[in-house]
Amino acid sequence: MSKNFNNKKIRAVSLLVCSLICAAICLLITACNRKDATERDSSPCYDISAEYDVETSTLSASQEILYTARQDSDCAVLHIYANAFSQSYNAIDILSLQIDRQTVDYEIYGEDRTLLKAIYPFIENSTYIISCKYTVRLPHSDSRLGVTEDGIVNLTCFYPVLARYDGGWREDCYSSFGDPFFSDISSFYVNLTVDENINVASSGEIVGVERRGAKGKKTVEISAENIRDFGMAAGQFESLSESVRLHEKEVTVNYCYYSDKNPTASLERAVSSIAVFSQAFGDYSHSSFTVVESNLQNAGGMEYGSFVLVSPTPSYESYLDTITHETAHQWWYDAVGSDQLNSAWLDEGLTEFCTYYFHYLSGDRTAHTAAMSEISRSYSSFSALKPTVGFDGRMNRHLSTYLTEGEYVAVTYYKGALLFDTLRTLVGDEKFQAALKQYYKDNMLSIANEQSLCSAFKTQGYDIESIVSGWTNDTAII
Ligand SMILES: [Zn+2]
Repeated sequence: MSKNFNNKKIRAVSLLVCSLICAAICLLITACNRKDATERDSSPCYDISAEYDVETSTLSASQEILYTARQDSDCAVLHIYANAFSQSYNAIDILSLQIDRQTVDYEIYGEDRTLLKAIYPFIENSTYIISCKYTVRLPHSDSRLGVTEDGIVNLTCFYPVLARYDGGWREDCYSSFGDPFFSDISSFYVNLTVDENINVASSGEIVGVERRGAKGKKTVEISAENIRDFGMAAGQFESLSESVRLHEKEVTVNYCYYSDKNPTASLERAVSSIAVFSQAFGDYSHSSFTVVESNLQNAGGMEYGSFVLVSPTPSYESYLDTITHETAHQWWYDAVGSDQLNSAWLDEGLTEFCTYYFHYLSGDRTAHTAAMSEISRSYSSFSALKPTVGFDGRMNRHLSTYLTEGEYVAVTYYKGALLFDTLRTLVGDEKFQAALKQYYKDNMLSIANEQSLCSAFKTQGYDIESIVSGWTNDTAII
């Protein structure tokens, strides 16, 4: 019972508080208007309206992030990766930046100007709207963000994205090696306006297409919930779709292509990869998956949440294996996240292993054995270089410590894949798959580490800690 010291005053204060709460709820729903405020967890929510102008290769965007502070902090840090794709690190122009409708001071910093610090007194567990308007000039290059030589526009890494908060803001710059991204699970609601004759493919699902505003334009409405990174592609491509039935859901698989001579077989590979990995590790976590053929410089493909880019290559077999590789990332990167800057082997090693384990699980054990032998030979030739070029076989180290891309590939892809194949051989297929099922289930929508992997194997009766640490610390003889 509280003291009844002034009923009139209490009623007035209550009315004011109710009005403020209603106003705050309305503001939050506006900021993330597709998701009911009562359904929301504390994961970030991005609402982006963008228009792409073909003539100037420029994206103009207005964005709101619904952000719940993890701890008290005097700032928020965002990655503006777009700057990494221009030689002078100035691809993105921030036109305005507000937090809860107040214009705030900010600083763009980092050696490649890919970090943005917004100054504001954030209070733990309070929710804020970070709004910004910006333009991005796309380079003409076969990069993650750019107009490719074949005319497909790769629209990833274009939006300011919250850095990860892990006891402090992670201020990692972009890196030309590997995938320098480490994101929390987020939801994205995106409206992209493009010329009417341009096709759009994206993470999540296209939930509507409207012809409005300027003549000859259309707005594509996209909803992509519970993914780590959002990606789109736009251009003149064809598309095929097929549904695949998993244990408890139906998944639509889309394949968009412009030069592929065997699109049906490519779609079929994406479908069978989803089916095989769902059977082995647990059902794919989304209701759609989109594969887009698009050029990527120095990379076979690139993964985003429920969306991947696959670069054409003269070898169709390796194109198909890239589809499988990027599909496996939907388990190991998107659903189960990990620190891709400091422990890249955890997702890349397991995904590379899965690329060939797919063949094993599909009945072609010879292809799996041949691939693992080739990987073993490739790793041996790199590790033999140790004394001469300072090759470092330690697996838990930052992307910036790798001397060459070859060293990065050898340590994360090759050595990582060999570690997982060794574990499979040690515990047998049944326990191995059960352990990875557990790892997937325990860490879905979260962040895993070496310890999480070992814990999953422990549930199957195997203590693999010393084996794994021997490999990651480079004390084991391989
Ligand atoms: Zn990969």
